[in-house]
Formats: sequence, structure tokens, C-alpha cells
Amino acid sequence: MGATVVLEETLIDNRPVLSATMHVSVEQIDVTSGLPATEADLDWTFVDAEGHFHAYDADGNLPTLVQPKRKYRCVICRQRIRPGFRIVPADMFRRYAPGRREITLQIVATSQPADVVSVVTPVGFGTGTVHGHGMRDGAFEFEVIVGTWGARKAVTA
Ligand SMILES: [Zn+2]
Repeated sequence: MGATVVLEETLIDNRPVLSATMHVSVEQIDVTSGLPATEADLDWTFVDAEGHFHAYDADGNLPTLVQPKRKYRCVICRQRIRPGFRIVPADMFRRYAPGRREITLQIVATSQPADVVSVVTPVGFGTGTVHGHGMRDGAFEFEVIVGTWGARKAVTA
């Protein structure tokens, strides 16, 4: 998964470049669950023999139960309680979560870059390492693999 954009007004080591194209790709991490699991059933409620109400709170905690030795018991009467759980089935389809982001810049410039350069673009700034040197029509073509990157707070005119 990725996106490519042409950038205006890009500086490499504070010098304007002839052209800059940015490619952003985001690693996709497979988070598919292959096995069924259990989770707290937040709908579960129970009134024990002494009339004490039990349920999960919104965070999935059991405020009216204690668990002295693996078994849940009523805080007041110590009756054994089995809190409700439900089965979460294994995923039928692959699921992905976004992972590490990689930004690369394709640059054409009039001067030869250093091995590590400062990058300033309209969408962010940072530093990167220079790869894939080449010359075309008297200009320097290279790729910058961004190492550190950030965006400045938007300035309103
Ligand atoms: Zn009780």
C-alpha cells in the first residue's frame, strides 16, 4: 500500500531541487487470528442467592467479585460466581494493521548531494540517506530514503 505525490518547493541541504517526487508506503502487518478466543461478555449480569448483583463494568472489570484463588467469589457473601464469557471465533478472512511507514523521495537536482541530507518539503521535513546516484542531462538524479521525518504545525496566514 502506498501513495506517490509530486512535491513543489523542495529543498535538499537548503538548495532548491529541479523536481521531487515522494513515495510513502505503509507496511501491512498480518493480525489474522487463527484460533478462537474468549472475551468478557459485557452483557452478562447475575444475582446471587443473597440478592447481590454482579456484572462487568464498561472496562471489563468485575467490581463486585474477588478472585482469591483463581475462582471468582462475591465480595460480600463469598458465593462462587462464574462470570459470563463469550467465544470470539477465529477470523474467516486475513486482517491487517498498519505498521512501519517508509518515505522515499526521487530527486533531480543541479548539485551533487552528500551521503546524508536535510530535506524540506511542503508536507514535512527531516533527514535521509542518499541512494542510486545517476546523471541525466547534466542533472543529478538520486533517491533519498527518509530516516527522520516530521511535519510542522500549520501556519495560518
Ligand atoms: Zn453475594
